Amino acid sequence: MIVVMGQGASKEDMDRVIKTVKAAGLDVHVSHGIEHTIIGVVGDVRHLAPEELRVLPGVQRVVRIMHPFKLASREFRGGPSVISLDGISIGGTELVVIAGPCAVEGFEMLLETAQAVKAAGAAVLRGGAFKPRTSPYSFQGLGKEGLEMLAEVRRRTGLPVVTEVLSPSDVELVASYADILQIGTRNMQNYSLLQEVGRARKPVLLKRGLMSSVEEWLMAAEYILSNGNDRVILCERGIRTFETYTRNTLDLSAVPLVKGLSHLPVIVDPSHGTGRWDLVVPMARAAVAAGADGLMVEVHPRPEEALSDGPQSLKLTIFEKLMREILQVARAVGRSVTEVRAHAS
Ligand code: PEP
Ligand code: MN
Repeated sequence: MIVVMGQGASKEDMDRVIKTVKAAGLDVHVSHGIEHTIIGVVGDVRHLAPEELRVLPGVQRVVRIMHPFKLASREFRGGPSVISLDGISIGGTELVVIAGPCAVEGFEMLLETAQAVKAAGAAVLRGGAFKPRTSPYSFQGLGKEGLEMLAEVRRRTGLPVVTEVLSPSDVELVASYADILQIGTRNMQNYSLLQEVGRARKPVLLKRGLMSSVEEWLMAAEYILSNGNDRVILCERGIRTFETYTRNTLDLSAVPLVKGLSHLPVIVDPSHGTGRWDLVVPMARAAVAAGADGLMVEVHPRPEEALSDGPQSLKLTIFEKLMREILQVARAVGRSVTEVRAHAS
């Protein structure tokens, strides 16, 4: 059970709720969000009627939630969450396409890619500055220099940027440059990192762990939400199976499934989901048809020269084709595609 306190609730109001909960032999978990303070009731809630709390001063809503994830559950909001960012809405009727290189390799290639994806209709630029590579000998990203390039390209193009943060100690630095903080698949269950981005004032794009169940994914989102950050975007990016012709198995059934379980927006990454550029466009179409709120796609001006993930990166012309094709699917399922902001240069 969750108690949502109204914006004007006082400390006394909070204390009264906590006292009532404890008197019923239960415990509380308090999370202070930007808009609301939420008191989670922990324990066997059968001994406490929601009405007992609903009538207390300062209480806005009491919601009974049977899932282990509470703040992430659909019941908590009763409908979808729309995450607003710099003139863009994620989770509304419009689809948001995030595109860019796997890694920021240099300023010129980043700017060239950003301008091209923007012209094709992408609303957000992606690019890794800190790269989680399987081999310690592979390109690890440009770090802070890469973040500076992302910020400069945002200034020139008007595209907000999303980039991955790998460690709790880097959250403040990455948040000072990025518009959205990305938690990669390998870190989905790095709980200290989740707590730290939960305390950040930036939206978080949470990728599904490559070996994670839907429930584990939603529990990871719960870590971020329960630390006060209510702007979480989920990203399905494929899970590991016995199949070897693809890098991962893109679980598109997770899209309608998670949208039924949670109020959070769900986007799809068909690039890491398949590992093959030739499968990216068909799976992007399928993701939109399945109800995804957006896409994250890797694009490189010269994929054969890419320092990471070249085989799954789309050439600029193929990305344009993807945008044209998803527009048609979007229309067929009652969605439109967010155009880049009118005031962008
Ligand atoms: C990425 O999007 O840059 C990335 C590394 O993806 P994933 O965490 O899904 O492998
Ligand atoms: Mn990549």
